[in-house]
Amino acid sequence: MTIRNAAFALVLLGACAAPAPVAETPRAAPLASEAQVAAAEGEALSDDWGAWNNPIEPFNVIGNIYYVGAEGISAYLITTPDGHILLDGAFAQTAPQIIANVERLGFHMRDVRYLLNSHAHVDHAAGLARLQLASGAQMVASEADRGALEAGRFPYGPSEDLAFPPIRVDRVIADNETLRLGGVTLTALITPGHTPGCTSWLMDVAGADGATHRALFHCSATVAGQSLAPPAYPNIVADFESTFARFRTIEADVLLTNHPSMMDLEERRARQIAGDANAFVDANALPAFNAALEQAFRAELARQRAAQN
Ligand SMILES: [Zn+2]
Repeated sequence: MTIRNAAFALVLLGACAAPAPVAETPRAAPLASEAQVAAAEGEALSDDWGAWNNPIEPFNVIGNIYYVGAEGISAYLITTPDGHILLDGAFAQTAPQIIANVERLGFHMRDVRYLLNSHAHVDHAAGLARLQLASGAQMVASEADRGALEAGRFPYGPSEDLAFPPIRVDRVIADNETLRLGGVTLTALITPGHTPGCTSWLMDVAGADGATHRALFHCSATVAGQSLAPPAYPNIVADFESTFARFRTIEADVLLTNHPSMMDLEERRARQIAGDANAFVDANALPAFNAALEQAFRAELARQRAAQN
């Protein structure tokens, strides 16, 4: 190969190594009707979950990240000059609050371009159909959780009997793939275990101190009443273990969880209101959270295995 050809080959290789565009399917009609979504919103939440849905004031967490969820169940708005990204729909009964929170902060649902989902359990996914109807945004999800979103039902575990309005998935995102909008780059981390397609997201964000921080939207890695030997998910234990190992390698100093208590939201918000603009910046939060999750997983695994014998 001549030097010139070699250089040309390198250019080709470089082209091949460039990140592949996110697979996009043509936009189809919503899977849930207005009537179906309204019916789900009108159902009473069980007593176990009712308090999670108490409204709280939406607020700016840090930089262009806003909290728009309820008291016990999160939703995040990431704003950009080219439109916004909304992560998680919570319960069907939470979606009207999320929409009101977005507008209350001065943003508009019609400007939401992408909907993301941490995972396809009813308490994080059921509101997405309403958010999709209200925004027309593209739903981005992992392949492994896509089926549950489109079916409107997670197929095993404590929530398997709880149907929710189905959500049209427009784009499938793979591990380490990025989603870009208006100068924001979100990197998907498939962190399976809690669900097979559990998706965490990483992004850089500017702090009040002018420094760049790294935010992690954590999918969750709790066992949450699930069997650790479900026939539908034979690899569950190995997946949880790989997820704990992976989180040990992730550096992030803003931990954002899908249940606010897991990130001490109330206490950090109080500090923020008192004047600490970087109350949500804490490099120790992720390692501590991951260690606690792993410890709880090990204890539950031992308990379930002992119960089998
Ligand atoms: Zn869950």
